Amino acid sequence: MGKGTIVDALVRRDPDLWLSRSWTTRDQRPGEADDAYVFTSPEHFEARISDDGFLEWTEFLGNYYGTPRPEHLDDPESPDIVLEIEVDGAQQVKQQYPEAILIFVVPPSREEQERRLRGRGDPDDKVHARLRKAEKEEPIGRSIADHIVVNDELERTLDEMQAIISTERSGRCGR
Ligand code: 5GP
Repeated sequence: MGKGTIVDALVRRDPDLWLSRSWTTRDQRPGEADDAYVFTSPEHFEARISDDGFLEWTEFLGNYYGTPRPEHLDDPESPDIVLEIEVDGAQQVKQQYPEAILIFVVPPSREEQERRLRGRGDPDDKVHARLRKAEKEEPIGRSIADHIVVNDELERTLDEMQAIISTERSGRCGR
């Protein structure tokens, strides 16, 4: 299971979470939900960058990915915003919003990650590029994370994430 599965299940369990939908210029995978991303062209993406329309954005293995500025970002009454993003974007968010909580999700092992990537039907070269990228990201992710969660078994991982979120929420109320 990927990070997408975790965050989808998490927001379904907790109505006080709101999942941001990212923009990407990568192609939609066969079988991937139409609303997994806003699938767009590099031209549209770049126009939105020029309009300062992204909270953060990055280039990941040849494609753009970005979080559109959420409308209710500064509204204390609105649900907590969940971003499922890679480490460069996470650093950008943390710089702008130091109160953001970074949960770094790691696979149980590189072998298991490879098995999952292959399960999505990606070609060999894409699988290898993603594994190399993951190896580079891991030390950065570990160093900036507020919490590290191993993505081994969905129910266990979800329980751990929920426990982290509730601890963080109670700390926030007391501040
Ligand atoms: P994928 O192509 O597998 O859907 O996503 C590739 C990587 O981009 C994943 O690590 C995913 O978390 C990350 N990603 C997805 N959306 C965004 C985004 O809006 N911003 C950033 N910085 N990364 C994203």
